[in-house]
Amino acid sequence: MLDESLAATYITFMTIRPILTVPNPVLKQCSKPVAEVTDETRRLMDDMLETMYLAPGIGLAAVQIGVPLNIIVMDLAKEGDDPKPQYFINPQILEVIEEKRPYEEGCLSVPDVFDEIDRSARVKIRYQDYNGIEVTEWAEGLYAVCIQHEMDHLKGVLFIDYLSRLKRNRAVKKVQKAEKLKEAG
Ligand code: ZN
Repeated sequence: MLDESLAATYITFMTIRPILTVPNPVLKQCSKPVAEVTDETRRLMDDMLETMYLAPGIGLAAVQIGVPLNIIVMDLAKEGDDPKPQYFINPQILEVIEEKRPYEEGCLSVPDVFDEIDRSARVKIRYQDYNGIEVTEWAEGLYAVCIQHEMDHLKGVLFIDYLSRLKRNRAVKKVQKAEKLKEAG
């Protein structure tokens, strides 16, 4: 049985944070390593996950909510399946295979813009999980796409940076226009 008072307490712990959009200069910042995984780190990751779910999105880097730390959250569960949150602290890419695959990407910091990007089909990654435990594994498919996209955020790189200047400028203008309309509305 669900203890409603407990559930309510749990919910108040989490905060939906505003997601920064282009051309906010914070998004171009390089994120810093997390020295130690603490309750504060976990609280930040909880907030990130809730913010991502609400957006809704499948991946979010801490810098996207204005915290330039090497932290990523993801949930690649299919619609209708149980949530499957994943947490990545200080992720590193150890190995990539040469084979590249195109995938139509989008980004919560570049809302309503989608374009095809080529990325390595498989990458070997190392990171610390929610509890600070080190994990080394291969990512492939959507997992490989998403982790490479999110890890780019930690270097201040956005997926539109891979597009032509014309397409990139058009994307930024589209987001700025939508933001202005939102403010006005
Ligand atoms: Zn993104």
